[in-house]
Amino acid sequence: MWAAGAWLSQALSAGPARTAGATLAAGTLAAMPASVTASRLTRANSEPGEWMSVGRTYDEQRFSPLAAIDTRNVSRLGLAWFADFDTNRSQEGTPLEIDGVLYLTTAWSKVRAYDARSGRLLWAYDPKVPGEFAGRGCCDVVSRGLAAWRGKIYLATYDGRLIALDAKTGQVIWSVLTVDHDKPYTVTGAPRVAKGRILIGNAGGEFGIRGYLSAYDARSGKLDWRFYTVPGNPANGFEQPILAKAAQTWHGNWWRAGGGGGVWDAIVYDPTLNLVYFGTGNGSPWNRAFRGSGGGDNLFVASIIAVNADTGAYVWHYQVAPGEEWDYDATPPLMLARLRIGGAARRVVMQASKDGFFYVLDARTGALISAKNFVPVSWTRGIDPETGRPIPNPASRYDITGKPAFVEPSGQGAHAWHPMSFDPLTGLVYFSAIDTRFSMMGAKTFTYVPMGANTGLAFPTPTGRRAPARPAGSPSRLLAWDPVRQREVWRSQPLGRIGAGTLSTAGGLVFQGTTDGRFVAYRATDGKPLWSMDAETGVVAGPMSFAVDGVQYIAEEVGYGLVSYGMSNASRLLVFKLGGTASLPPAPPPPPPPVLDPPPSTASAATIEAGHEQFEVHCAMCHDPPAANREIFPDLRYSPALGSAEAFDAIVLGGALQPNGMASFKSRLTEPEVQAVRAYMIAQANEAKAAGLQPGGRAP
Ligand code: CA
Repeated sequence: MWAAGAWLSQALSAGPARTAGATLAAGTLAAMPASVTASRLTRANSEPGEWMSVGRTYDEQRFSPLAAIDTRNVSRLGLAWFADFDTNRSQEGTPLEIDGVLYLTTAWSKVRAYDARSGRLLWAYDPKVPGEFAGRGCCDVVSRGLAAWRGKIYLATYDGRLIALDAKTGQVIWSVLTVDHDKPYTVTGAPRVAKGRILIGNAGGEFGIRGYLSAYDARSGKLDWRFYTVPGNPANGFEQPILAKAAQTWHGNWWRAGGGGGVWDAIVYDPTLNLVYFGTGNGSPWNRAFRGSGGGDNLFVASIIAVNADTGAYVWHYQVAPGEEWDYDATPPLMLARLRIGGAARRVVMQASKDGFFYVLDARTGALISAKNFVPVSWTRGIDPETGRPIPNPASRYDITGKPAFVEPSGQGAHAWHPMSFDPLTGLVYFSAIDTRFSMMGAKTFTYVPMGANTGLAFPTPTGRRAPARPAGSPSRLLAWDPVRQREVWRSQPLGRIGAGTLSTAGGLVFQGTTDGRFVAYRATDGKPLWSMDAETGVVAGPMSFAVDGVQYIAEEVGYGLVSYGMSNASRLLVFKLGGTASLPPAPPPPPPPVLDPPPSTASAATIEAGHEQFEVHCAMCHDPPAANREIFPDLRYSPALGSAEAFDAIVLGGALQPNGMASFKSRLTEPEVQAVRAYMIAQANEAKAAGLQPGGRAP
């Protein structure tokens, strides 16, 4: 069942010290930075010390063939060097390492290049993303990585620019805008490189966009092709022939809210089949009833799609959730592998999807080979192996009558963007999995609000938003999954509310951070924790490994902003090696527990309800209490500004906290609307106080 090829035994016997990349690095650092070519990427496993694309190889298995750090000596792993970042928002990036230089992105799409041995900063580039774009995304101003090609580093910025940087200096060579700034697009995923083109997608399905994948010429920045994932207004014609067919699965005026289908994370190039695979996000708005009338599959939302790498022409698709309405983006990482299934070697595309299923598809045809849920699911009764379609569970469908529908997983996803890794020696895929559940209730009417959150849901108040509780403790864990037999092989201890990316190495190890502030090495075969360190901050990003001068390193970006565990966010890059002796400065003091001290609630019920509606459209994406970080996205029930109408206006309309990333909402809200939001939060705070939520920061 193992897919380990000749390259692997070669790499293992050669060892990191004698690899081409590692020995080349010393002499070529200054002369040819980031000289990444098609042949180097295709033969990436002959340079096991390099990490030249975000998933390391075109297959994006995030497996390092380096084995100097192994199960016997990992206990001696120590910090080689670290580098502090100048932003404490969430860090979701995986660095690149090419010929002795380490390149990474931080929050706000900033780029840094370091000498990989010493940690000396070689250059830094800040694209100066305007602060107001923070309000256009759901989940912080993150950036998941870079692409490199022939001396250039390619950056996708949060505000939708694709920028080519000189790998030696960080100077801008060209910059193009890939989205319409009049629509709520953002870009968080790493760009990829395929045949001299840079591939870039976009996000915004919670606000209302029409998703697409673009391919730009790496030298000039000229747009070569673009694949729209959902049909636009038929009156304007269809950009691609396949969209005429896709339009038959939509009804009504779906294009008014964009339709959705953002390509916000997974993009994989397959040089063998000359295909590009990518995942698409949820429909816009979430509530299918408001994407048009009469239901339908709504192609190609929540789908895995393959297009021709030269032209962007459609080749195949597999829709994981036809007629999706649960925020089941099919955007989690995609991975290519050769697996022995039923006695035959199959080239497969794999995804641990937000909808709770692990999908294995035939890479050539998109045919479903197998699908198995890795968490409890209620939205379907299972996947029909004949048709590849989910068997509907009507109880998990909500509508426009206000009837709540219980659904698991929730839109948070059983597994989201967090990178997964594959170890060809164990044959297992390693990824974080979370049990989540939610009661969803459709709104009775829907009006598209430009730049607002457009879900088409009726949200109960924060205190009424809890889904039925399930016994057992913390729901997140690291899973080792056998993709051939479609079964769990081992699971870690509970790890907190949010998952994190993984790295597999030929040393028999799996590395993963935790949102409660640890970085851990597990034995790949059975999940025994062999080493961990106190990262002093939440960790969610995908780790990577590289070798320079024969020394293997493990690198991880740390710092998380969406959920805190009584920790301050200390964002930095940590780089480890055997016998490393560097140490972190003392952890910053945790943020003081917020105090619930609202003024009396005196507003009318109508004003409070109006404020509730505005809160859901404009505020809840960041300040929704059950999900909010107390430090970065404050729970507004605790805000001292509730006590003063002027103070509240100064923040929400005047932009007083713009330096912290809280942009002015002057273009979106009127003063009476802002005061209605304040009245709603005052009412909520009084309700929470009466329920005994004081003191501390956790939502009830
Ligand atoms: Ca989504």
